[in-house]
Amino acid sequence: MLNATVAELSSALAARQVSSVELAQLFLERIDRLNGSLNAFITVDAERALEQARRADAQRAGNAVVGPLTGVPIAHKDIYCTKGMRTTCGSRMLENFVSPYDAHVIERLESAGTVTLGKTNMDEFAMGSSNETSYYGPVRNCWNRGCVPGGSSGGSAVAVAARMAPAATGTDTGGSIRQPAALTGTCGLKPTYGLVSRYGMIAFASSLDQGGPMARSAQDLALLLNAMAGFDRRDSTSVERAPEDYARMLDLSLDGLRIGVPEQFFGEGLDADVRARVEEALHWFLAQGARRVPLRLPNAELALPVYYVLAPAEASSNLSRYDGVRYGHRATEYEDLLDMYVRSRTEGFGEEVKRRILVGTYVLSHGYYDAYYLQAQKLRRLIAQDFVQAYRDCDVILGPTTPTTAFALGSKVDDPLQMYLNDIYTIPAPLAGLPALSIPCGFDAQGLPVGLQLTGNYFAEARLLGIAQRYQLATDWHLRVPREAPL
Ligand code: GLN
Repeated sequence: MLNATVAELSSALAARQVSSVELAQLFLERIDRLNGSLNAFITVDAERALEQARRADAQRAGNAVVGPLTGVPIAHKDIYCTKGMRTTCGSRMLENFVSPYDAHVIERLESAGTVTLGKTNMDEFAMGSSNETSYYGPVRNCWNRGCVPGGSSGGSAVAVAARMAPAATGTDTGGSIRQPAALTGTCGLKPTYGLVSRYGMIAFASSLDQGGPMARSAQDLALLLNAMAGFDRRDSTSVERAPEDYARMLDLSLDGLRIGVPEQFFGEGLDADVRARVEEALHWFLAQGARRVPLRLPNAELALPVYYVLAPAEASSNLSRYDGVRYGHRATEYEDLLDMYVRSRTEGFGEEVKRRILVGTYVLSHGYYDAYYLQAQKLRRLIAQDFVQAYRDCDVILGPTTPTTAFALGSKVDDPLQMYLNDIYTIPAPLAGLPALSIPCGFDAQGLPVGLQLTGNYFAEARLLGIAQRYQLATDWHLRVPREAPL
């Protein structure tokens, strides 16, 4: 059961082969056994999980209407506010923060009957690509404990990869779902901007932040997204659309599928093994009748600098709310009000968060706004237009998720630019607001997983998931069990 997908657990629960309480116990024991070394969870609440599991079992026994997720245990990135359960966002600032309300995503998944096992570790305020900026210590990659799992949703990725949870939630601003999915051999989907409500999801860069599912198969991503997506009036950028079944295209035909292959995604800096695995995947698709469409995304190479102006700008504004007054960390000793702000923020935030606040404040300040922030906004529009143009000629864009596989813990912490380069392929999609997913497509010479990224047009989630599912029916990369977390 530990190795089962969400779809399999759902069938087992429906057939009464297992109860939700038994499942919750199984995963809680696994967490207990592995979390000391992997550090994927910040908070685990066994009592709460078992209570939810008992309720799910009672619903089923009482023949109440149950859904495919009723009784399925999952984990949540610690960026989602959970009522009555601590939400730290990976920061000392929120070490003791207990939200008075649930995030929309939590509400939706819990009302779909899922059982919350706990809250997963993450880079502080979702700023990072390695999970090393977490105040609660780094997460370790279960394929090689000396390596990072990626970030910022590294805890969710390792929870899923190490079978501590069959699925988890994540958030993606510049790659935080897809990059850790790639580095841990799991699957992750960043939906179209606005599909999943940001209400109760702690803000980093609001025009980019988007919640999404992480799991071990494309089918499971679809099941989770079905519960997570939906209009919410409390998020002003939530899109109002008729509900759709994201699993409806899982048997999609690949014949005639036009696959865009942008040269910009295969340039300098791409590891040879990663390139080889991604090209093998492309050839598999071509063998199924798909067509290769060479593409140019002329402004894609500007995505990284644009992102690192816009995301810090928005972050500096969003993080101004942590002033020690209403909630969050407050220094115990201070002289006056200003000193209280300064000391609370100095103590509460880590180095990377401070770096972003400084950069963001700088690019927004008088005299620099036009040169940096405004310019970046204009380039963002050009990057988005490249995609609009590209989707006239292709149905999906294929490339690597990351330039390299998992790197050694500590190897990039002192070099922010090297760290930022990890997101070179994942940043364009959120800048354009497009959906994109990462699925495993093989291993490098060290046995570390490689991720394949598929980017779709707006609201093309069902199709993306269908394409990924077809690949997964023919390959078993997504089923491999990590070496350092055997069953
Ligand atoms: N790694 C990127 C950053 O540090 C993206 C993070 C994210 O998507 N939340 O900003």
